[in-house]
Amino acid sequence: MSVNNLIPPHYLNLSTNGKVKVEYVWISVTGQTLQSKTRTFDFEPKTLEDVPIWTYCYDPIKETYLKPVGLYNDPFRLAPHKIVYCETLEKGMQPSHFNTRHRCNEVMEAVKDQHPWFGMEQEYNLLGADKHPLGWPKDGFPGPQYYPETGLFTYHLAQGTGNIMGRTIAESHYAACLFAGLKIAGINSEGLLSQWEYQIGPVEGIQLGDQVWVSRFLLHRVAEQFEVVVNFDPKIVPGDWCGAGCHTNFSTEEMRKPGGLKVILEACEKLSTVHKEHLAYYDPAQGKDNARRMTGRFTSPPLENCVVGVMDRNASLRVPLLVEQNGCGYFEDRRPASNCDPYLVTEAIVKTVCLNRKL
Ligand code: ADP
Ligand code: MN
Ligand code: MN
Ligand code: MN
Repeated sequence: MSVNNLIPPHYLNLSTNGKVKVEYVWISVTGQTLQSKTRTFDFEPKTLEDVPIWTYCYDPIKETYLKPVGLYNDPFRLAPHKIVYCETLEKGMQPSHFNTRHRCNEVMEAVKDQHPWFGMEQEYNLLGADKHPLGWPKDGFPGPQYYPETGLFTYHLAQGTGNIMGRTIAESHYAACLFAGLKIAGINSEGLLSQWEYQIGPVEGIQLGDQVWVSRFLLHRVAEQFEVVVNFDPKIVPGDWCGAGCHTNFSTEEMRKPGGLKVILEACEKLSTVHKEHLAYYDPAQGKDNARRMTGRFTSPPLENCVVGVMDRNASLRVPLLVEQNGCGYFEDRRPASNCDPYLVTEAIVKTVCLNRKL
């Protein structure tokens, strides 16, 4: 392990003479990456109201406001230092053209009486500094990901040398998320060697997008310390190798109550009638990135049509076994790509399911 960006204990433990380091984090103009910079405070901010608006320039002549919307513990600098997650606003306090949070928040406000909950399963790949999948042979492929005779996946949910790669990074990120105060539901190894998943949720409304973006920031920062690269592309190895998604689990209060299964199936029905429209919101390339992944093979959903299924991991919309058994709970939209914008995904689901609105 390298010590890239890992603060030596000597400096970590130095007195700050009462000062507090606050890391401002926001989504860049690309809509896909994050940016951050640090500011020294004379006091420890306890609530969002304690954190002033700041600015940055997304292009040489465009100064943009950074408006704090979330306050977290900093797992790198430790207490009392903070991470403050921001949305970007233009002069006049209008949302910037790459601010997808603003509209998502308006939609979440409109349905807050229905208490929409989300859980997102963020899959990602780890690459070496040379951008080659971590632990893969330099001139070929690792052993098969799947054995049809037994139905067993080699790397998914696995242990043991050769079967997993980068667990220390997944574990360190898990610890960092919990310390920061994110609602991380769990982690597991995924279908490719050095592919992993963590889940954020269940959380209500705009919280899902906020927490997924902050969790991505933490993941990039953790991986830096190991000189490893995090890649969110939904299909890093073409052909019959597992892609990466962001399965989105969703429920409203009605779905979580006895008899909710009926409401869940109605929601799935609504979603299937606007399959193509939703795919345009489920990756940053209006569906083109996801089309590489959605082959209908190796637990990826098909591209052309929307399949509703109970238990079925090749379905587009899946009702989990325990939900069918309990007659209420939530369902899973398996279509969003690993590089999706969670604000666009959750907004689209709520518009279709809760507001009966066109996207
Ligand atoms: P899978 O079996 O598809 O791998 P996971 O266990 O990885 O499922 O993820 C399930 C996700 O669903 C978790 O993020 C969890 O927080 C979320 N979840 C659980 N209950 C609900 C609910 N009622 N509404 C929305 N999301 C939920
Ligand atoms: Mn999962
Ligand atoms: Mn998964
Ligand atoms: Mn899933």
